[in-house]
Amino acid sequence: MKYLILLVVIVVVWSIWKKRNQPAPKNTTNPDAAAQKMLVCAHCGVHFPEGDGVADAGKFYCSEAHRRAADQVERG
Ligand SMILES: [Zn+2]
Repeated sequence: MKYLILLVVIVVVWSIWKKRNQPAPKNTTNPDAAAQKMLVCAHCGVHFPEGDGVADAGKFYCSEAHRRAADQVERG
């Protein structure tokens, strides 16, 4: 029984060690993310991909809600 536990420990440690020594995948960067331009929300300052945001009067927002919120702030 003692040897069985020892064997399990060795197998677990060996599998972790093997995983850590695996070469990193060549395509570490997501091609979709790299192709999209990152913009900063004019309301909250969050970074978001160009395709996910809303543009209004030369400004960019992370969401329609923030475009409206910024619009309300400007109007007072
Ligand atoms: Zn925002």
